[in-house]
Amino acid sequence: MSTFIGRMEEKKIIKPVLDTHCYQCSSITKWDLYRETNWMSVLGIKFIPIGHKYYLSCQNCHDEFKLKSEFVAFLKSSSDNNESTEKIRRELINELEDNQLSSKTEKQLAYIQSLRTIKK
Ligand SMILES: [Zn+2]
Repeated sequence: MSTFIGRMEEKKIIKPVLDTHCYQCSSITKWDLYRETNWMSVLGIKFIPIGHKYYLSCQNCHDEFKLKSEFVAFLKSSSDNNESTEKIRRELINELEDNQLSSKTEKQLAYIQSLRTIKK
């Protein structure tokens, strides 16, 4: 039996935005920008949007990274390659790395570090 008023989540891919290393699946992969909208629903039908958030998702393993608003604005807008966009892109990649690595143990970190050294 469905309730009269409920909530629904809707995920939509916006576009691929980043090529970088994913520590979850250990590969260089594309990351897609997603928008997730929360809806108030009535009888199972979307009625009023009550908020949304943006995140990146690894195309390979679907690991997710919730984005701060400044990064969202950046990713949705220009595709120009100049010094300032390159700076924000690097900040974003750093935060993504920190976020993924924060769940690793010290042993795993040492292993990842050794792999990266070999690749260079
Ligand atoms: Zn991945």
